[in-house]
Amino acid sequence: MADINISDEKPILVIGGGMSGLTTALEAAEAGAKVVLVEKEPFLGGRVARINKYYTKLCPPSCGLEINFRRMKKNPNIECHTLAEVESVSGAEGDYDVSIRVNPRYVNENCTACGKCAEVCATEITNDFNLGMNKTKAAYLPHYMAFPMRYVLAPEIIGTDDAKRCLDACAYDAIDLDMQPETVNVKVGSIVVATGWEPYDAAKIDNMGFGTCENVITNVMMERLAAPNGPTEGKILRPSDGKEVKKVIFAQCAGSRDENHLPYCSGVCCLASLKQATYVRDQYPESEATIFYIDVRALGRYEDFYQQVESDEKVSLIKGKVAKVEEDPGTKDPIVEVEDTLSGEKIKAQADLVVLATGIVPNTLGNKIPVDITCDDFGFMVSDPEKPGVYAAGCAKRPTGVADSVQDATGAALKAIQSIRR
Ligand SMILES: Cc1cc2nc3c(=O)[nH]c(=O)nc-3n(C[C@H](O)[C@H](O)[C@H](O)COP(=O)(O)OP(=O)(O)OC[C@H]3O[C@@H](n4cnc5c(N)ncnc54)[C@H](O)[C@@H]3O)c2cc1C
Ligand code: SF4
Ligand code: SF4
Repeated sequence: MADINISDEKPILVIGGGMSGLTTALEAAEAGAKVVLVEKEPFLGGRVARINKYYTKLCPPSCGLEINFRRMKKNPNIECHTLAEVESVSGAEGDYDVSIRVNPRYVNENCTACGKCAEVCATEITNDFNLGMNKTKAAYLPHYMAFPMRYVLAPEIIGTDDAKRCLDACAYDAIDLDMQPETVNVKVGSIVVATGWEPYDAAKIDNMGFGTCENVITNVMMERLAAPNGPTEGKILRPSDGKEVKKVIFAQCAGSRDENHLPYCSGVCCLASLKQATYVRDQYPESEATIFYIDVRALGRYEDFYQQVESDEKVSLIKGKVAKVEEDPGTKDPIVEVEDTLSGEKIKAQADLVVLATGIVPNTLGNKIPVDITCDDFGFMVSDPEKPGVYAAGCAKRPTGVADSVQDATGAALKAIQSIRR
């Protein structure tokens, strides 16, 4: 076999900086490959950064993310672009020309995250990190462990007195109001798509009360409500009146396994609801959590976690798909209608809060990236022998949890390395 001169190798392009993209980039870089990582948000970590605790260990996302960020800092092989999107890709395996658009952050690498700009900024914008459940200053750090640890100025304030106030408050010469979008052109040898997922739009499920009942939320909102850096600083409170919750219902398969919405099983939402039942129970010892399900999908080694949560006498699991959620106009309590499939009994249950276990939609659906990929009927990317050089990792490929995303990503890194060394 001929010697390989890795210093001449083209980099691997990784699109998406969630757990799958981060892992792909790190595994490839630690094996000596060069990597260009492109993330559209101002921070890395993807959806995982927005969860409160991981099942099954129930540790915070900082556990997994921090170690990866430390690996990133140490590795000169990764060129990372946040607030960036791939604009065009041409060529073939081994020789792609890629054009990346990097949007202005208006804050440079001098930023110490001191927060003085946020103190003087008067404008507030919707807090996307908290899924729009609260507001944040227009000069903001996306979240407390953001990587890069650097503030962002929202484009809304550029050209206003507010931006000028931020500039004057910064003692580190870190604000640059003249920053413009930039185009970065790179040549790469292979591509890994790790663009992840978004939650299914619960408003499309008309019978579930989302948008019409104030105290019906989704599972991703629940993660933010329970998180110490969320809109309620970790207190699980009713959106309508801020009251503590005593009775919470989880409605499984909200949109998933339904021909009218997502025909597939979203894989993670049974475990997510079991986990969220522990958030409620841990916070309010007198509370009750009821999970209405079609089947509980907690496969393999997750069975233990399922049994552990089920053993709590204040957690009930009832087999039955929620048929309807309506609001009691007086109390704003959601009322759930469901048939217990095992007993045949028709149940009408009132709760303080209903959490819809909404499913996972791949961001590759309707392919929004300029890369020629092959997807299945649901938008998940499939490997295509006709298109060597392009691989998928994590939820771009299938609905899956973090552990499996990491394994996928490690495999994708190997495929991408093989591709550039072929
Ligand atoms: C309610 C809920 C709770 C969950 N809790 C857990 C849990 O406790 N434990 C667990 O193991 N799993 C959990 N999961 C699953 C977990 O969220 C996924 O396994 C994980 O997010 C997969 O990571 P990913 O990198 O594939 O995708 P993502 O986290 O979605 O990351 C994708 C990244 O790509 C970026 N991106 C998208 N499009 C582009 C583009 N065009 N250009 C550049 N960047 C782009 C995104 O901004 C994002 O940063 C949960 C899921 C749900 C729904
Ligand atoms: S931009 Fe300047 S003022 Fe704002 S956090 Fe960074 S260093 Fe501090
Ligand atoms: S994981 Fe559970 S809640 Fe989610 S779609 Fe599958 S069966 Fe339904």
